[in-house]
Amino acid sequence: MRKRLDDYRDIVGDEILFGIFKKALKLNGKRIVHINSTAMGGGVAEILRSLIPLMNDIGMDAGWRVIHGTQDFYNITKKFHNALQGEKINLTKLKKQIYESTNEDFSFFTHLNHDFVIIHDPQPLPLIRYRSKQQPWVWRCHVDLSEPNPDLWHFLKLFLMRYDMMIISNDKYKKADIPIEQKIVFPSIDPLTVKNMDIDAATTAKVLKKFGVPTDKPLITQISRFDKWKDPDGVIEIFKRVRSARDCRLVLCGGAASDDPEGIIIYEKTVKKGEELIKRGEIIMITAVSDVLVNVLQRESSVIIQNSKREGFGLTIAESLWKETPVVATAVGGIPLQVIDGKNGYLVATGDYDTAAERIMKILDDGELRKELGKNGKEHIRKHFLITRLLSDYLDLLNELR
Ligand code: UDP
Repeated sequence: MRKRLDDYRDIVGDEILFGIFKKALKLNGKRIVHINSTAMGGGVAEILRSLIPLMNDIGMDAGWRVIHGTQDFYNITKKFHNALQGEKINLTKLKKQIYESTNEDFSFFTHLNHDFVIIHDPQPLPLIRYRSKQQPWVWRCHVDLSEPNPDLWHFLKLFLMRYDMMIISNDKYKKADIPIEQKIVFPSIDPLTVKNMDIDAATTAKVLKKFGVPTDKPLITQISRFDKWKDPDGVIEIFKRVRSARDCRLVLCGGAASDDPEGIIIYEKTVKKGEELIKRGEIIMITAVSDVLVNVLQRESSVIIQNSKREGFGLTIAESLWKETPVVATAVGGIPLQVIDGKNGYLVATGDYDTAAERIMKILDDGELRKELGKNGKEHIRKHFLITRLLSDYLDLLNELR
């Protein structure tokens, strides 16, 4: 069913809605297109699916296109993604050529006569070079840009210099070596999607049964694509420590994203690492893609883990906090914006499995603490990380670019 902005009235209140409608007045009828690299899987598609209908509801003419790439292109852009987050890369002429020519080809497949163009992440970044630019272009970067690989960054700046603005998710990702305007916009979640809406007990029970998740023991869960930056091996290390002292189960839920070719490799590595525990049913591995399952797991788990080594923002955290489930997570990237240590969960250093396990046990042992952290988490998300705030931020910057 098509969502309207006023559907959010009970959650955010009239004042916020009035503010958004007012900001939209001067953008009435303006055409805006978002371009990214996948329609399914990962945080970007998740946001666009909610944001674009709302932009249309408030009077804009908003659309969404997905770049057409080959497997080679996605292999390369995944390497770019990793290198933007700090990994080494062998930036060959061939890689650059495939990256650029895919964008050049796509420029013939898609015609852009909009008032604004918003490009998400590195995959479609070069498109600007192959279209005659007739409107403001914005590069919306969702990854952790704190320490990009210098070679790759140098190469990408070639395209970036043509843009009017760059949006990042954190003050820490600002770059001193580019003169274009850089704005910080925090991502957000949509409380009315199947992934985040309230769910009744009967549906919850049905979903858990269908996906083979028993509820005889407390669940601790990480929901993330199988990706080295999400460190699923480390989650198993943490679980082993918890499990030696408390009876509980681990769920690792990681549906794939169509622009991420590494998922299967990391999944297989994780299965190997957890082999014995998986066989005994103490670790449950899930690769099915299901929003209602994510919702139920985030609600029914006693603790959500997010053991990332790098994390642009981490929508899974906002989703879990919204459901009043405390999160134990590494203090990297956008995570500390969401997890306030001791208030709605706990922050730990990357690789500090002992402390992570100790914090999880603290929550498992104390129902009152769990409730308190959960309540605080929901309010933190309501105040800062709902889709209405994201929409409002976009309107501000589009008004500025007009
Ligand atoms: N997700 C999902 N099923 C899964 C794993 C992840 O639907 O099995 C969703 C998750 O709920 C979130 C998005 O994918 O909405 C991941 O966004 P996040 O910012 O956490 O990480 P990204 O994948 O973009 O690095």
